[in-house]
Amino acid sequence: MASFEISKTEEEWKQQLTPDQYFVIREKGTERPFTGKFENHWEPGVYNCAACGNELFLSNTKFDAGCGWPSFYEALDKTKVTEKMDYSHDMTRVEIMCAKCGGHLGHVFNDGPADKTGLRYCVNSLSLEFKKQDSSATK
Ligand code: FE
Repeated sequence: MASFEISKTEEEWKQQLTPDQYFVIREKGTERPFTGKFENHWEPGVYNCAACGNELFLSNTKFDAGCGWPSFYEALDKTKVTEKMDYSHDMTRVEIMCAKCGGHLGHVFNDGPADKTGLRYCVNSLSLEFKKQDSSATK
């Protein structure tokens, strides 16, 4: 396991996170589609890592992929999200993790909007925390 800026023992993560968050973020689980609180959430703001608060995605890059999970066509910044090949469940996928704490976010796929990046960052709601931004704020 690579080392991350924020490094806690599994015991510490267990105490900090809810059981559902722990399952997704630390055990790389997946929430059931269409059940997450951000799947159909369109307020302007920033989505942060639920485990460490690292800013990960902006609401204006979120789109409705119809897949059941919050989807973004790009990360707030390339340094915010770490990618890793994932061969589990007889699939070849690219896992995405918070670059600061190593928390599991979801996967990135190549079927995003063609007029943008062509990427779809498919993220578990349980991995995210939303910070509302007032409309006058600029990036
Ligand atoms: Fe994090």
